[in-house]
Amino acid sequence: MKDKAKWDIQSRLVHSGSGIDFSNVRTPNPPIFQSSNYLYEDVEDGTDILVGKKPGYIYSRYSNPTVEVLNQVMAEIEGGEACLSFSSGLAAISSSILSYCKPGDHIVASSLIYGGTYHLMQDQMAQLGIDTTFVDPTDLKAVEKSIRPKTRILYAEPLANPTLVSTNIFQWAEMAHNHKCKFLVDNTFTPPPIFNPLKAGANLVLHSATKYLGGHSDLIGGLVVGPLEEIERVRPQLKYHGGIISPFVAWLLLRGIRTLGVRLERQCKNALAIAKYLETHDKVEKVLYAGLPSNPQFEYNKRHFNGYSGMLSFEVKGGFEAAKIVMQNLELIKFTVSLGDVSSLISHPASASHVYLTPEERAAIGVTDGLLRLSVGIESGTDLISDLKNALGQLLEEVFG
Ligand code: PLP
Repeated sequence: MKDKAKWDIQSRLVHSGSGIDFSNVRTPNPPIFQSSNYLYEDVEDGTDILVGKKPGYIYSRYSNPTVEVLNQVMAEIEGGEACLSFSSGLAAISSSILSYCKPGDHIVASSLIYGGTYHLMQDQMAQLGIDTTFVDPTDLKAVEKSIRPKTRILYAEPLANPTLVSTNIFQWAEMAHNHKCKFLVDNTFTPPPIFNPLKAGANLVLHSATKYLGGHSDLIGGLVVGPLEEIERVRPQLKYHGGIISPFVAWLLLRGIRTLGVRLERQCKNALAIAKYLETHDKVEKVLYAGLPSNPQFEYNKRHFNGYSGMLSFEVKGGFEAAKIVMQNLELIKFTVSLGDVSSLISHPASASHVYLTPEERAAIGVTDGLLRLSVGIESGTDLISDLKNALGQLLEEVFG
């Protein structure tokens, strides 16, 4: 506001604090640029920024300085050249798919992907004339056979929800490139430093930042990382469909990412200890965890994952009734959806994330009535085991007498 004294109090109130130049301020943490628009020196300056002749900001749906910091951090830790941030994991996934597929095109997707992504492809993309074939990700011959001349995308997750089956990202990448398809990998379950899909040959890495990256169940966000050329292909989807992240959520994510390494270290350590304990329990039918030597994919996991994630599933004997008793008797571990939190969270896939599948469809992907999924937190591992021990003890009394 030039020449303040000349304006009435009503106008000064409206403009107070606006346009301050903070360019000489440096802080250890990025500020939250809670602004939808930006100011210019003059008309030429504004036009030059708008047409991309000069760096700068126009409007926060296009870009925002706080969000840019998050994009740089994520590009670096995923080993990509650039990143875009979205309002949710699914916004990142749908925008990425629409960047490559138009009506008549085809997707080959792992059948072991997050349920919301499955629905997105099966229903929403199908309505747009984009077909998806879902395949068992471990059956590479079936994957290859599903590829058609119109296949544009191969899509997979390194560790499946809730069965924790591993997909060989290296082999999928090779197949995608042999058929001139783009390979998109949702890395939500195995964020860095556990796994970097771009280094394994993926073209784009996607995240539900809601989970491990945020780490505290207090935000919803999504990310797409890749080479600049691919990111520039996705950018118009973000700009014109408008599923942007808010500067505050970007800031929360930046704060969350600072502790990602230590959180994951503890979560992996706790998860391995719990998996080993559950394997010895006589009321547990089976334990599904990437880091157990009894896992048939253990050698692959050991070679390619730096830590086996905090996600594990286990099947209790006695079906749904038994699973309910275990969940209801846990005191420390919270019964809720989502994952990747500092708190341990338990869910029952057959009655929650996979409730819309028929019992036969659930059985086909290993989601039995007694299966429980545990997202292991950073609490004391001893306390977590004693919480599970106590809840499984109730099961002994109530179901087995
Ligand atoms: N990908 C995976 C593996 C997920 O588990 C989820 C949500 O649970 C999503 C994507 C979707 O993320 P959001 O809920 O942030 O849209």
